[in-house]
Amino acid sequence: MTSAAVHNAIFLDGRSNRKRGVTLRLAGGLDIVEDDAVIESWHYDAIRRADGPPQILRLSCDAALPLARLEIADEATQGMVAAYCKSLDVGRAAAGQTWRIVFWSLAAVCSILALTYFGIPYAADRLAPLIPTAMEQRIGEAVNKQVLALFSGKTCDRADGQAAFTLLVDKLKHAGDMDVALEARVLSSKVPNAFALPGGKVYLLDGLLQKAKNADEIAGVLAHELGHVQHRDSLRRIVQTGGTSFLIGLLFGDITGGAAMVFVGRSLFDASYSRDAERDADAFAIEVMRKLGRSPKPLGDLLVRVTGTESGKSVTLLSSHPMSEERLATMSKETPANSGPEILSATEWKALKGICATR
Ligand SMILES: [Zn+2]
Repeated sequence: MTSAAVHNAIFLDGRSNRKRGVTLRLAGGLDIVEDDAVIESWHYDAIRRADGPPQILRLSCDAALPLARLEIADEATQGMVAAYCKSLDVGRAAAGQTWRIVFWSLAAVCSILALTYFGIPYAADRLAPLIPTAMEQRIGEAVNKQVLALFSGKTCDRADGQAAFTLLVDKLKHAGDMDVALEARVLSSKVPNAFALPGGKVYLLDGLLQKAKNADEIAGVLAHELGHVQHRDSLRRIVQTGGTSFLIGLLFGDITGGAAMVFVGRSLFDASYSRDAERDADAFAIEVMRKLGRSPKPLGDLLVRVTGTESGKSVTLLSSHPMSEERLATMSKETPANSGPEILSATEWKALKGICATR
């Protein structure tokens, strides 16, 4: 039974790039016919599929010239040829491999995107503890440079003030039984804030120091920041806010890379710790103050004075430590009478207040 239909194709003979209009005839092999003459006959089993545009069936033949090609655009002809040529896809496992690689690459990109939008906080919680301390120190150094640049690099170290500050921090550190690196400094800035950086750097800004009415208030704030250090919260927050750049940096081993760090340096001041992190840092501060025999309430007093309460809706300058009614309630509830000695003497407190004084 022969078909009367004409099976058109384009033939490239492999010698020139001339496209020749041919017809195909099914005989002992696939006959390529030009002007009623069979110019080549390809054995069915030697015909292979070659890479080509999706709508076109492009064929090569193992027994023909390596660059010889047949291009079939007509769907019926494609079906017919495919029915005769049983070995079209023999030896094409490598091509399948390529698609698998493309598929998994796409899947990887998609999962990073999904992680960014849905899972970064979740990932950050699990990733941060896995980051070695040495790497945290490197990240801390990079962020620290950003911070010092933001504050013109001015730390305060008037001798008597620095002595009082060191004394205070050491007391808190020992009471907190801290086992991580710690380096606390006072920064010359009118902004009433305090924050912790990865790697154990804690900064108290002079603006907050000046708002404080006594050493217990500052002790509470510092103890709270030490809590963030002890729990490595700022590292977790950087993983979170650094998001994709951080993950990509992690993939390429460029954690401290410029772009990611610029982003992190900025977002460090915009982003808030989670309520859980705040609660834990508060708990740490309360515990430290209790061990020193001091009431934790002054911390709450200072924060409310600076930031207001949720219902008060005043400007929250301490945006990195959102003050909640809940936090205030916790601190107010914990109000044992001061049973321990003054955390700083009146003289030491006065010296600390003046740590940034220039005269
Ligand atoms: Zn905090």
